[in-house]
Amino acid sequence: MTPRFFADLLAILFVISTTLHARQPNLVLILADDLGYRDVGFNGSKHIPTPHIDSIAAEGVRCTSAYVTFSVCAPSRAGLITGRYPQRFGFEHNTRWLRDDIREGLPLSETTIADALGKSGYHNGLVGKWHLGAHPDLLPLERGFDEFYGIPGGGSLYLPGKHGIEDIETVKNEYHSYRLWMLRGDTPEKPEKYLTDVFSDEAVDFVKRNKDKPFFLFLSYNAPHGPLQATEKYLSRFKHIKNKDRRTYAAMVSAMDDGVGRVLAEIDSAGLEEDTLVFFLSDNGGASSNASSNFPLRGYKSSVFEGGFRVPFAVKWPGEIPQGRTYEKPVSSLDIFATIAAASGAKEDPERPLDGVDLVPFLTGKNTGSPHETIFLRKIQQNAFAVRSGSHKMVIPKDEGKPLLFNLDTDIGEKSDIADANPKILADLEKRRSERNGELIDPVFGPGVTGPPDTRRKKKKD
Ligand code: CA
Repeated sequence: MTPRFFADLLAILFVISTTLHARQPNLVLILADDLGYRDVGFNGSKHIPTPHIDSIAAEGVRCTSAYVTFSVCAPSRAGLITGRYPQRFGFEHNTRWLRDDIREGLPLSETTIADALGKSGYHNGLVGKWHLGAHPDLLPLERGFDEFYGIPGGGSLYLPGKHGIEDIETVKNEYHSYRLWMLRGDTPEKPEKYLTDVFSDEAVDFVKRNKDKPFFLFLSYNAPHGPLQATEKYLSRFKHIKNKDRRTYAAMVSAMDDGVGRVLAEIDSAGLEEDTLVFFLSDNGGASSNASSNFPLRGYKSSVFEGGFRVPFAVKWPGEIPQGRTYEKPVSSLDIFATIAAASGAKEDPERPLDGVDLVPFLTGKNTGSPHETIFLRKIQQNAFAVRSGSHKMVIPKDEGKPLLFNLDTDIGEKSDIADANPKILADLEKRRSERNGELIDPVFGPGVTGPPDTRRKKKKD
C-alpha cells in the first residue's frame, strides 16, 4: 500500500468523523476553588444542599475517584487547561503576583484548551479566577480566550465595596491583589454585587449572547476559597450551623450552587441542553482553613493524601453519556482537554502531547478498561509524591519519608499502611513513580529558582 493510499484513507475517515459530529457541542467547564470532596450532595453532603450541581451528576455521571494534577490552585489549573502534567513545563508552585516576570505563569509555549478550540471555530469565554500569571502577556486574552471577566490573580474579596484598587499596576503582591477591581478584558471594572453572584450573572449573559455559535465557557469560581465572606441572603439558609466559619463556607457553596443552576437554566431555555457538554469539579481538595469537609478522605488542600487532590467531579452530555451513573475507576482533570478535543474536533498539538484521555468511551461503558494505569502527583518543594495504580496507592510524605502503601478499595481514608507486607506492589509503584518523574523538569519559577526576572514582552502582531 502506498503513502497516497493512506492519505486518501485519512481524508475519507476525516469526512466520516466530521459528518458524525456535524454539530459541535457547546462546552461548559465549571470549576470550584478549594471545595471539599464531601461538600456536594452527590458525594453525600448532609450539611449543604447543592441541588443544581447535583443535577449534573443526576443527568450524567459522577466520578468518585477523580484527581487533579496538583493539590493547590495554580499548578492544578495549569494541568487542567493544558491537559498535561504541569511539572512537564516547570509549573509546580502557586504563582506570585509578578507583572514583570514572564516566567511566573503558564509558559507561552503551552497550548490551552481555548487555543485549540479557537482554531476549531469556538468562541471562548473565561469568567472568574485565572491565576496562571499576572504578566500582561500571560493573561486570558493572550491565551486563547475571546472574552474575560474576572480575577487575574489567585483570589478576591467577595463583598461589594471592598475592592479599592482600580489600577492593576499599583498591586503590590498576591494578597494585595485580592482588592483589585475585576478585569473586563483589559479594563478594570468595580464589582457592585456579591462576587459569586457577579460571576453567575456574567456566565448567564455569556450563554445568552453566544447561543447561536459553538462556545466554550470556563466558569472559574473563586468560591469557596478564602476569605470566608457571604451575604445575608446565603447565610440565612444555614442558621442551624453553629460554627461561624462552617456556616459562611456553606453559604458560599450555596451561592455557587444557585449560580450553577442559573447557568444550566439559561442553557435549557436556549434549547441547548442536548448539545452541551458540562463538567463540574474542584481545583483541589478542601482546605483546612476554609471549614470544608473532605470526609472520608485523609488530609486537605496541599497534601499528597487523597484529601489534597481527589475532588468532586461530575459530567453530563445528554444523549452521549449515560444518566445517573457512578464511575469509580480513576479519572483525571487531565482528561477534560482530551474529552473536549474529541467532542469538538479540536486538534492536539503534536509537540505537546496530552496526558489525558477522552472519557466518553469509558463513561458509556464502551471501553471497560481503565482510563489511567497510573495517577501521579509530585510536589518537588517537599519531595512528596503520590502514585496510584488500580486500588493501591503509594504515598511518599514530605522530605522523602518512608513510602506508605494503602489499598484504597478497602481503606479510602488511608489509615492502614500495608507497605511492609507488600514489597512487590510497592516496587511496582516505585517503578511507575521513577518513570514519570524522569519525564518532568525542575520548576521554572517559585522558591529556589534564581536568576533575574525575564522582563521580555511578546511581540505584538501588527
Ligand atoms: Ca484552589
